[in-house]
Amino acid sequence: MRRADVVVVGGGPAGWAIADACGRAGLGVVVIAPGGKRVWAATFGVWADQLPGRFPGFASARVLGNGRELGREYVVLDNAAVCAELWAGPAEALDDEVVEARFGRRGATLLLGSGRRVACAVVVDASGPRRVVSGGPPRGVRVEQTAYGVVVPSAAADGIVRSGDAILMGWDRPPTFLYAVGVSSDRVLLEETSLAARPGVGWDVLRRRLHQRLENEPAALAVERVRFPVDLPATPLWHRGSVPFGAAAGMVHPATGYSVGDALALAPVVADAIGDAWPRGPVAAAAAGRAAVWSARARVVHAMRLHGLRALLTLPPDRLPEFFDAFFALPPDLRKAYLSGREDVAGTAGAMAAVFRTTRWEIRRKLVLSRY
Ligand SMILES: Cc1cc2nc3c(=O)[nH]c(=O)nc-3n(C[C@H](O)[C@H](O)[C@H](O)COP(=O)(O)OP(=O)(O)OC[C@H]3O[C@@H](n4cnc5c(N)ncnc54)[C@H](O)[C@@H]3O)c2cc1C
Repeated sequence: MRRADVVVVGGGPAGWAIADACGRAGLGVVVIAPGGKRVWAATFGVWADQLPGRFPGFASARVLGNGRELGREYVVLDNAAVCAELWAGPAEALDDEVVEARFGRRGATLLLGSGRRVACAVVVDASGPRRVVSGGPPRGVRVEQTAYGVVVPSAAADGIVRSGDAILMGWDRPPTFLYAVGVSSDRVLLEETSLAARPGVGWDVLRRRLHQRLENEPAALAVERVRFPVDLPATPLWHRGSVPFGAAAGMVHPATGYSVGDALALAPVVADAIGDAWPRGPVAAAAAGRAAVWSARARVVHAMRLHGLRALLTLPPDRLPEFFDAFFALPPDLRKAYLSGREDVAGTAGAMAAVFRTTRWEIRRKLVLSRY
């Protein structure tokens, strides 16, 4: 049987961020993921001020939300370079999948698809929405973000997005919006996005809407299809066993779909919490890890963001541009608090209250009565 201090289930951004951080904290780490070390395929955007400096990407200096300049730099990760940076640490990778975990007072034993077993003190579940060792996928039809995008040469996107600009949300054709970002010096991603719907809007619909927007079917260098749930609950307080992290922990922002910036920024904090509690045994170390992921303030913010999601779902599609216009018109500190202030209770509440104050009564009524 193979042994490690920490086993990380999953090789996405959350998995490798926490594996790298635990390795730096002096723990012996094994990452178990189908495919082993495989560069992430998705286009991941994060706020530059959230991104630890050692992770490279392509930055857009002028970022627009519904035509308004947000004054905050946005970076599309260079996945190959970020993965290389994370893989350079001491964490090992196993190309396998976890089928079962047995937890005890001295740690856990993981059973793998190949028939192998791995024993460890702490298991971090970074398996995304599948949550393979944390109770499995949540039941019921989820609220999903979906998108269909094409990567084209920057020159082909002239007239849609200027070189060096990023359009986070272009709400000129609700109920979906345009997300347009530079992914390298000569390529842009143009993506028709449905922010949140239950179930998610189909790719065929989004593809048709994108082609209508572009007035033709572009010669794409690559195609991206996005689908993931945004309403995953935060790890319950009574959870025992694993340390869920990333999407598996419900870290996806319910009203925006972002989690990668938080995972990269939070990983060292969680790893240090696990390391500090290590002398008190596996159960205490895992509990310390969970507490670092979900502080009381982060739980309150998550609940407020879920309310924001409910509000979004009740708004009629033709009111979405007006609603987001009110949001993007907020002072920068309030906007930032709502978008990425994971523990900023006052800022999140302030942003929501300010949007409420500035919208018309018809929208306010929907926001107050929102339920889903
Ligand atoms: C196409 C796309 C684009 C997105 N763009 C952004 C963005 O720009 N910015 C942003 O912040 N968020 C974005 N998101 C949303 C979200 O942040 C991502 O889903 C992100 O990948 C979540 O990271 P994660 O590491 O928690 O989970 P995942 O990336 O889903 O990783 C889960 C890992 O677990 C592995 N796994 C699954 N089952 C098992 C098993 N049984 N045993 C072992 N391993 C297993 C998978 O193979 C995978 O490696 C996007 C999502 C998608 C799908």
